[in-house]
Amino acid sequence: MIQALNLAKEIRDEITNWRRSLHKMPELGLFLPKTAEFVKRKLDRWGIEYITYRDNSGIVAHIGKEGGKVLALRADMDALPIKEETGLDYASENENMHACGHDCHTAMLLGVAKILKEHEDQLNGYVKLFFQPGEEGPGGRPVMIADGCMENPKVDAIYALHVGGVGEGMKPGDITLMYGPYSAADDQFDLYVKGRGGHGASPHLCVDPVVVATTIIQTFQTIVSREIDPTEPCVITVATLQAGRGAENIISDTCYMRGTVRNSTMENRNYVLSRMEEVVKGICMAMRADYDFKLDYGYVPVVNEKHMTDMLIASAQKVLGEDGVHVGGRQGMGGEDAGFYYQLVPGCFFNLCCTTAHSDGNVYPAHNSKFTVDDSLLYKGTAVFVQAVFDYFEE
Ligand SMILES: [Zn+2]
Ligand SMILES: [Zn+2]
Repeated sequence: MIQALNLAKEIRDEITNWRRSLHKMPELGLFLPKTAEFVKRKLDRWGIEYITYRDNSGIVAHIGKEGGKVLALRADMDALPIKEETGLDYASENENMHACGHDCHTAMLLGVAKILKEHEDQLNGYVKLFFQPGEEGPGGRPVMIADGCMENPKVDAIYALHVGGVGEGMKPGDITLMYGPYSAADDQFDLYVKGRGGHGASPHLCVDPVVVATTIIQTFQTIVSREIDPTEPCVITVATLQAGRGAENIISDTCYMRGTVRNSTMENRNYVLSRMEEVVKGICMAMRADYDFKLDYGYVPVVNEKHMTDMLIASAQKVLGEDGVHVGGRQGMGGEDAGFYYQLVPGCFFNLCCTTAHSDGNVYPAHNSKFTVDDSLLYKGTAVFVQAVFDYFEE
């Protein structure tokens, strides 16, 4: 029997230090040269084989025996274009920040790599560790899938985790997870309503795109409120609306809007996006306007599969005790590009509760310049992963 928690505890300080090293040098997007170098140096030192890709900084480490089941564990490695304001002594040394905790995910997965390699002879299966760039953008399907990370050998299932807040009734270092949808489908749209401009005092000689656009916005909201099951979350937000240049007496030629659409399921997502297009077309036709509507397909929902979730709960309880594992909670409406992996194979995505107060006493959310994590707890995430790997292969 593997002593996952003890093994992770033995390298607790190392995991913390890796995280802090990564935290100082955040990188954005698909190319993370320093971060990837850091990961590769560790893998080399531990004698772990890995694959890299030409068009991005993704790394897939391989540990175990081929021929049996294949489990993937995924950590994202990229940061955000935010100027850090934590004041910590290991704060970012450049203009960007690990404000979503991906430095923590990378450090935890490095801990998993080290432990699994040391116990490779006890592994009855094959583990692929995905160190993935580009989660925060440029968006779309993770490049590593296109590069074949799910094949050779073919991945059967996946686990991933994200750092998260400590909710009511939870202790720092606990984990939370849920059955079914975890994150939302996340799509963007751009719409130009094309009318005919003219004098503000003569609307009958014009086609006012502002009135058309506002009618469209109102009708978008009735898709949410009148067409989607009210127990299934759906959001349409028009975040940008632009027309005119500040005049009070000119009807504009065009009105531009841009926004985001969030859905809990693929069925709702496909339905809502197609209805939005119909609404735009129908209202523009009825109101004599023209339009240019562009959908930008983003992330698909992460949906936790029942059996993988059952197994992860059991593994996490072995490591953290029953009171360290919290099942339930509500799906978030944020996007997470891991959804593309979960479309291909069953998996479970869980959270490690480890955000903590900034020195000003407030707890800041991810994507905030004062976002702070208690990185002395990261070994618990490593421990849950290690236990989950062994349990998956014993099953
Ligand atoms: Zn994020
Ligand atoms: Zn994130």
